Amino acid sequence: MKDIEKRGQMTQIIHAGQHVDPQTGAVATPIYQTSTFAFRDADHGAACFAGEPGYKYTRLGNPTIEALEKNIAQLEHGCGGLGAASGMAAVNMVYLTFLGQGVHIVGTESLYGPSRTILETEYPRFGVESTFVDTSNPENLAGAMQDNTKMVYIETPANPNLKLTDIATCAEIAHAGGALLVVDNTFASPYLQNPLDLGADIVLHSLTKFINGHTDVVGGIVVAKDPDVYARLKKVHYNMGGTMDPHQAWLVLRGVKSLGLRMDRAQENSMKLAVFLEKHEKVDWVAYPGLESHPQHDLMKKQMRGPGAVFSFGVKGGFEAGKTVINNVEVPVLAVSLGG
Ligand code: PLP
Repeated sequence: MKDIEKRGQMTQIIHAGQHVDPQTGAVATPIYQTSTFAFRDADHGAACFAGEPGYKYTRLGNPTIEALEKNIAQLEHGCGGLGAASGMAAVNMVYLTFLGQGVHIVGTESLYGPSRTILETEYPRFGVESTFVDTSNPENLAGAMQDNTKMVYIETPANPNLKLTDIATCAEIAHAGGALLVVDNTFASPYLQNPLDLGADIVLHSLTKFINGHTDVVGGIVVAKDPDVYARLKKVHYNMGGTMDPHQAWLVLRGVKSLGLRMDRAQENSMKLAVFLEKHEKVDWVAYPGLESHPQHDLMKKQMRGPGAVFSFGVKGGFEAGKTVINNVEVPVLAVSLGG
């Protein structure tokens, strides 16, 4: 589609990165389920490996995966995307590309568990030092910056406490200290929040959640704003090998088309539930950025187009009371993950 960036967001969600197949006229992006691509002759093969456009091997690029990468890169207003086997493969692609001996990273204290755990348990072997602070107060971030801080890694809304972090302020602090700002945008999705527009350098997603939206795929993606940052990520990603499978990419391409409609309905439902629970006599607290009682409700209105669809709440009576609720719900399935 011509001038896709000038179209409405719903139109971009459906069409970005995709085109009618020139050979067959297929409207849906075909699944190029192949590991390798034939060269016309030796010179063509050599030229492809020297950098000329052309597919070589699916770990190094595949048309179905590329369609998804272009779609999400467009929705996040970045220069390019890199599809990954899982959200954690996306997180580690970013860590491995920019962290190393003597480098310090500051992260949101309440990150998705493994994004923090791996920094604390594995990366010290490579000489990486990490500090975690409550980034919902940017002063904590400013206080944690060191001369060797090369990355600030935030999650907003954060999993699981739903705290928000001011992306634009963190970008200023990170850049003043010579660090990149990376934002995990999984909870908001590109439909509700675009961190690159607010100054972030890299945005990443667990596609497993709202973007795919059907609880049938695990996947991840990284989108960079700057072509040099994108090129560095790509080199590491292709050699590290946590890349996507074409069928996985195709399922996410199918899922993403309804992202806007699903998010609208899901956050409408969440708002009703959060208001109901906040008034309920047996509920202690509700954490939902859509409620005026949320400490960063105003920040939500400033940096997001809606509060999203995830909330958490605590019931009176502690752990046992919580178990009683969990064991008696009728509609929700007792399982991890979200966005399906
Ligand atoms: N980031 C956030 C905010 C998540 O909630 C998750 C998974 O729950 C991940 C990253 C990791 O994604 P995946 O499970 O697709 O590896």
